[in-house]
Amino acid sequence: MATLKEVLVASELVKRAYDFAKKAHQGQKRKNGEPYFNHCLATAEAVLGWGLDETTAAAALLHDVVEDTSVSLEQLSKEFGEEAAFLVDGVTKIGFVRYRGIEAKVENLQKFILYLSKDIRVLLVKLADRLNNMKTLYAVQPQKQKRIALETIEIYAPLAYRLGMQKLSGELEDLAFPYLYPAEYKWLLGISKERYEERERYAEKFKPLIAEELSQNEVPVLGIVSRAKRYTSLYKKLLRYEMNIEDIYDLVALRVIVKSIEDCYAALGIIHKKWPPLPGRFKDYIALPKPNGYRSLHTTVFGLDKKIVEVQIRTSEMHDESENGIAAHFAYAKNKGDKAYLDRRTVFADKKELFWVEQLRNWQKDFTNPDDFMRALKIDLFSDRILALTPHGEVLDLPAGATPVDFAYQVHSEIGNSCVGAKINGKIVPLNMELKSGDMVEILTQKNKKPSESWLPWVKTSAARNHIRAAVRDSAKPLFARKPTKMEFRVVAEDRVGLLKDISEIFSRSHINILGLDAKDEGRFPAIKIVCPALAKDKAEKLLIKLKKIKEIKEVGFHLQ
Ligand code: MN
Repeated sequence: MATLKEVLVASELVKRAYDFAKKAHQGQKRKNGEPYFNHCLATAEAVLGWGLDETTAAAALLHDVVEDTSVSLEQLSKEFGEEAAFLVDGVTKIGFVRYRGIEAKVENLQKFILYLSKDIRVLLVKLADRLNNMKTLYAVQPQKQKRIALETIEIYAPLAYRLGMQKLSGELEDLAFPYLYPAEYKWLLGISKERYEERERYAEKFKPLIAEELSQNEVPVLGIVSRAKRYTSLYKKLLRYEMNIEDIYDLVALRVIVKSIEDCYAALGIIHKKWPPLPGRFKDYIALPKPNGYRSLHTTVFGLDKKIVEVQIRTSEMHDESENGIAAHFAYAKNKGDKAYLDRRTVFADKKELFWVEQLRNWQKDFTNPDDFMRALKIDLFSDRILALTPHGEVLDLPAGATPVDFAYQVHSEIGNSCVGAKINGKIVPLNMELKSGDMVEILTQKNKKPSESWLPWVKTSAARNHIRAAVRDSAKPLFARKPTKMEFRVVAEDRVGLLKDISEIFSRSHINILGLDAKDEGRFPAIKIVCPALAKDKAEKLLIKLKKIKEIKEVGFHLQ
């Protein structure tokens, strides 16, 4: 891998980006007191370490100038080309996304970040940026430390893992762990430090014996490295093993690197013959790779002095990939242009594993030269889904064609029901406007507002449709089911002096208020209307019987008003 120093000499673009970023960040300091530019350098070093191209290195140097200095994106585009500007823009946008510890949102957030990284190099610059931020997190105020550490362990480390970058993923986790679980971290250091050292000494003694055994059996060994288990992964494992560190056999694992897949299996046989395996611990990730593409043979044996030790056997290509994952392919494509790494059989253990990993893997098969490879990186993974953002940086996953109303109902049914307008990226838009991925959507609401039936033809989600229908039904119901408050009695009677008084006495004796009384002369007999508060049916009927006892009354009836 080329270092930044070498690339600065070889690449005019990177040199210009270096000078430009240095000048733009002039006088700015990081929280730890270092010049801000150091952060840009570290980010560029990291992407170069993964074998990325000069455009990405330039973008890494420039990744914070749009957000933190007066430089505009247009300016970058003019100076360094659209490609570099596009990468910087993507990194800047990812910076707006916030994770606040709601587990259900993790996948959306990861997808959104990946969407913004339509070109996967955006994500790699972002990961390099985050790696350096984690290394300097000690200087940041405690509340922010926690938020960034949580975001790192929940979002960025798993993204790195899914891209097969296990080394980076483990490093990010280990950097975040002490901020999130300080007590557990302290405890872990206490119980593991000596054991790590003891296991490392043991590994150093065991390594030459394995190398000798294999070469005597004509399996050349390219190298054996020992790798201490990372704190975070050790802690996760301890949780599964009742916190008993004696049960963890891969505290320090030996990685035996050989030339070919055939040699992997041959080495396994030789090792098992000499040092018997622990039953049930052998795993063939070559025939059945992990969903993120990881390949290796794992076994646990009774090694030197009958001590239990985990041995991993792999080719150097697998070794490279297991450390750097997707980034390892850049190095191959750029430096070698060969296709040996393409005939890997990646089997997906779980269909539900983020489908974009599969897409990433499949798409690697389709190109024949490094240029195509770079072009193929610009993929739109989410043509049938929309990922839109709330003003709080929360990401919602919606079907293509979704509108602000669908968005509102996804936030909350109450927000949908009281929605009266929407803004997309700060501008007022019609409610039936189609959303695009990356849109920031703000819903304007009004209390006691009801959704409109006219929304039904264009909403996209069934959730919105169902809520609108239910709300329309509910608002229609009170009209029909409204409780009547008044009752009218109609009496037709032969008029006489005192008739009205007799009728009203019947009401008052039954403790019923008369709200209105109206007598009309309709031909032979006058019709009298008496309005009173609504009565229960039986009470109204009793009143009817009493009224009928007045002999002048010919007809009597009542109805609700
Ligand atoms: Mn940065």
